[in-house]
Amino acid sequence: MTEKLNIGWIGLGNMGTPMVRNLVKAGFEVTVYNRSADKSEALSKEIGITVAYSPAELVASSDVIVTMLSDDAAVKQVYEGDNNIFSAQPGKELTMVDMSTVSPETTKYLAGLCAEKGITYLDAPVAGSVKPAEEAQLVIMVGGDEKVYGKVKPMFDVLGKMSVYLGETGKANVAKLSVNLMLGIVTQGLAEAVVFARKNGLSAEQLLPLINASSVGGGLTKMKTENIINQDFKAAFALKLLEKDIRLATENGMDTPVGQSLYTTLKAAKEKGHGDEDMISVLKYLSGE
Ligand code: NAP
Repeated sequence: MTEKLNIGWIGLGNMGTPMVRNLVKAGFEVTVYNRSADKSEALSKEIGITVAYSPAELVASSDVIVTMLSDDAAVKQVYEGDNNIFSAQPGKELTMVDMSTVSPETTKYLAGLCAEKGITYLDAPVAGSVKPAEEAQLVIMVGGDEKVYGKVKPMFDVLGKMSVYLGETGKANVAKLSVNLMLGIVTQGLAEAVVFARKNGLSAEQLLPLINASSVGGGLTKMKTENIINQDFKAAFALKLLEKDIRLATENGMDTPVGQSLYTTLKAAKEKGHGDEDMISVLKYLSGE
């Protein structure tokens, strides 16, 4: 039997936390670092993992260090901030795996810095929200060296229902931004259908079962039905993160009409104070709330 990878994990947000739980359940050695140490200490109490207090502390003992952080700036912090990963010496062949949604430019930049130090790098963003993360049903898109993908695949197999190798560094970021462009468009479409129905005297409770049973219904409309009916806008995927993804798509040439309209809506909804709520709070914004 091959030895299990030693994993260093950076980022215990909505996604990182259930992903770490699944790795530990599958028998991986995981050491975690989170900017706010209270989260890593609480998870350590719950599942007995080791806590690190800087990215550098993970380097010597890890085969793989995963980042699952908000955005490009947060990921860069791991490489350029205090006690960053370059300030320590890897004990073995180290691979950095970024599972956050960031731009292909950031990935290429960081992969380049790593290559200078003999560290390999994969971009490996995920499709699927908190529930798929909890149920190890994520879809993982991978860019970088295919041999390195082979090394890390046993970890991906635990976190998701599938991982797909897409080609060179940054390709997976492009795939992820494409998926989220469609995610945003469908989310706004769902919200607009509910706004229109309500304006004409039909409730969300009446409309949503019809949508879900029809050919336009699907995973997303079903997932958000209860949230809409119960007015529950607690973030599984924060609106500000979707706005960030559509900004990244725009910066990478997305100039098509529905996507641009989506970006305008998300920026305005964030400005109105809905950024920390779930992306479906675009419905609140479009309803004038
Ligand atoms: P989240 O709940 O907001 O967690 C963000 C994490 O990033 C936290 O650990 C936070 O640390 C850390 N962080 C933020 N800024 C930082 C900085 N400047 N330096 C160091 N750490 C920083 O986000 P999430 O929902 O888990 O999403 C993580 C990534 O996955 C994002 O790129 C998102 O777009 C992507 N994604 C999310 C979903 C989803 O449904 N939620 C689905 C697919 C992909 P603190 O705890 O200290 O704040």
